[in-house]
Amino acid sequence: MPIYVDENRSLWAAGATPRPQRPALDENLDVDVAILGGGFTGMSTAYHLARRHPELRIVLFEARRVANGGSGRNGGLMLNWVNGVEPGDPARAAAIWRATNAGIDLVEGIIREHGLSVRWRRQGSYHVNTRLPGAELAAREVEGLQKEGLPLQYIDGSALPERLRMQGAVGATFDPAAGHLDGVSYLEALLPVVERLGVQVFEGSPVDSIEEGPRCTLRVGAHTVSAASIVLATNAYTPQLGYFRDQILPVFAHVVATEPRSAAEWASRGWGKGAGGFDDDLDRIAYGCMSEGGELVFGGGHNAAYGYRYGGRPDWAGTADYDAVHRRFLKYMPEAADIPVAHRWTGPVALTWNRICSMGVRGESRNVYYGLGYSGHGITLANLAGRVLADLYDHDEAAWEGQPFFRGHMPWIPPEPFRWLGYHVVTRLTGKSPRKRGVKV
Ligand SMILES: Cc1cc2nc3c(=O)[nH]c(=O)nc-3n(C[C@H](O)[C@H](O)[C@H](O)COP(=O)(O)OP(=O)(O)OC[C@H]3O[C@@H](n4cnc5c(N)ncnc54)[C@H](O)[C@@H]3O)c2cc1C
Repeated sequence: MPIYVDENRSLWAAGATPRPQRPALDENLDVDVAILGGGFTGMSTAYHLARRHPELRIVLFEARRVANGGSGRNGGLMLNWVNGVEPGDPARAAAIWRATNAGIDLVEGIIREHGLSVRWRRQGSYHVNTRLPGAELAAREVEGLQKEGLPLQYIDGSALPERLRMQGAVGATFDPAAGHLDGVSYLEALLPVVERLGVQVFEGSPVDSIEEGPRCTLRVGAHTVSAASIVLATNAYTPQLGYFRDQILPVFAHVVATEPRSAAEWASRGWGKGAGGFDDDLDRIAYGCMSEGGELVFGGGHNAAYGYRYGGRPDWAGTADYDAVHRRFLKYMPEAADIPVAHRWTGPVALTWNRICSMGVRGESRNVYYGLGYSGHGITLANLAGRVLADLYDHDEAAWEGQPFFRGHMPWIPPEPFRWLGYHVVTRLTGKSPRKRGVKV
């Protein structure tokens, strides 16, 4: 019999040590850089910029609390690769994999260097193929990528851990460099680090409006902030600020997590040894992640795991059909039927039409930086964004030229009411979310 605790509080938030909220802005400010949003994108940008430029006055405004958005509400899979990109040329694909892997290395490096107490693991993850042609293609791709020196392994269906085999998997790519990250424990631990580096963090401080110019003017409640540069680190919330309205579809994703069980018990129920997590090749991607604490987190795989409200309104309360997500989970893992669901939550995702995210700088004065549109793999990419944006700030972006996410093209998405109609008609008729074919590299 499932029990539900703390509606819409993620497993990661439930495990966080309580702390007093950082103060809200209560004066007008003049700063060098103002970062909007306290998720992975905002906090990683704060970290890399402050570390390189102790002379800069950097502030971060978070509407609610650090890790309030997707960064504190995700499924925990820290994966390589850029969603929406199909590997063609192995050398080029390997360069993309290496760039994203640098994002995971950055997270690991920060945790180790600062001795942070974070729930995370780098135990690898399976990308599962459910159709034979896709599996054969994956096997060939892995062969090419191994020749480029990548540690990926292709595993035939018969050799897969039992649990993955039973979901109709005909093969899978195992990436040993992927991992799991509890985003709340990471950002909570990173918060005092960025503060020690001189960044001032204001919580409960939503930016209401932005006026661009050689210096940008932000309205934060009753106060005004003048900033030489700003960073939009607000992902799915960004259209509310008037940016990227025609390129981002804010969707809500719903997940469930079981009570914790020991590794031995999960193994006895068929969760293969060493299986940190998986995602699959279905259009409504299903994903599962074994947390550091032994909870199994599951999301996707079905229309019921996502919600889109007219106009992309961020009020998802009451829209999530968690029972349907749980039923889907049990199709993947029927042996878990007697393990209660202990957490269920929902959070914002920013879909782009080609599923490729973008990191860049815009505005007449070239002082509005952004990293957003993560339509999958956002844990890795949003943590990488801080490094990319710091390089852009320093005009030292050569390393990122040609990467699909660097100034990535986010195609136009029709406005309402076509958007709402299109989303609901396509998802209901096909069970897939509308998307434009990504790019082949
Ligand atoms: C249910 C779910 C499951 C997911 N699973 C995975 C997964 O397994 N693997 C993976 O890689 N990715 C996953 N993701 C996606 C991933 O979590 C995101 O792509 C990533 O966290 C985005 O980070 P971010 O910092 O850009 O945005 P966010 O974490 O959303 O941060 C944006 C912040 O901006 C704040 N904000 C908004 N408006 C304002 C304003 N006006 N002023 C100030 N602050 C503002 C918000 O409160 C929020 O804290 C999942 C997401 C969800 C919701």
